[in-house]
Amino acid sequence: MASEDTPDLINRLPRSTSAALFHLRFSTGPLYHAWTLLVVCCLVCFRPLRWDDPYQDRVEAWRRFLPAQVMLPTPTPTPTPLPLPERARVPILMYHYVSEPPVGADRIRLDLTVTPENFRAQLRYLADAGYHTITLSDLYLYLTQGIPLPDKPVVLTFDDGYRDAYEVVFPMLQEYGFTGTFFVLATPAHFESPGYLTWAQMKEMAEGGMDIQAHGRDHVDLRGRSYDYLVYQILGIQEAIYYHTGRLPRFFCYPSGRYDKDVIAVLKSAGYWGAVTTEWGYTHSLDNIFTMPRIRIRGSDTLASFVRRLEGR
Ligand SMILES: [Zn+2]
Repeated sequence: MASEDTPDLINRLPRSTSAALFHLRFSTGPLYHAWTLLVVCCLVCFRPLRWDDPYQDRVEAWRRFLPAQVMLPTPTPTPTPLPLPERARVPILMYHYVSEPPVGADRIRLDLTVTPENFRAQLRYLADAGYHTITLSDLYLYLTQGIPLPDKPVVLTFDDGYRDAYEVVFPMLQEYGFTGTFFVLATPAHFESPGYLTWAQMKEMAEGGMDIQAHGRDHVDLRGRSYDYLVYQILGIQEAIYYHTGRLPRFFCYPSGRYDKDVIAVLKSAGYWGAVTTEWGYTHSLDNIFTMPRIRIRGSDTLASFVRRLEGR
């Protein structure tokens, strides 16, 4: 009797009471058991959830429902950077004058002077033997970033900024498609001293692919100097070259090859990347980037002795 009367009874009840009775019937009926079974299955399937690694939890849970051949993407590992080279064997050749020596030239001047004829023969040898001229910036980028160097790299450096750098060296290097690095002084250029490069010539050379770098405001021994004096010499030449050529020099050549730790400290604080000495050697690394050795080319060198110096034989 009660079961036959119940539907009418439910219909006559207020809405909230009717909902409560419906829930009572559902919670004890077969739907209730099916719902409970589904909840239990889900709990079993997703059982080993860990809160410390949500991505792995999700992957692990979904793996249970996928066929074996379906592969989930795995995170790409961060590539391991290639190790940087520890050192580079690059001859940095050191020239001073490339001209006919003046009449009555003394022994030192003769030693510092390579004739244009000998210089041309040396350039021809470099080209024929497959050498490539690079800048000190190229060498620096190789050591610091691993940017590759060409085969048989060589750096050609010319100290003191003599006028023959513009009149003889610059056109000859262009003829061979080579570049050169010129370590210049500011004071002779400011006063347009005879025999030295002018700022206009340096600008033209820089625009023609040559590398204008710093040798000091004046050609003085920088050892044992005050901080202010070192800033005057080292920052002074750097700012002057930048002002006149539009290119910031990053390398310094110690006048007469003389330096101390204070000179190196001021170079570093002024933003230089390295410096060359007059010491002999072929190997460069970040450990000696502020004391890079060079190979002196002498006025008395024959082509055979030039090749021996170049190749370290
Ligand atoms: Zn010098």
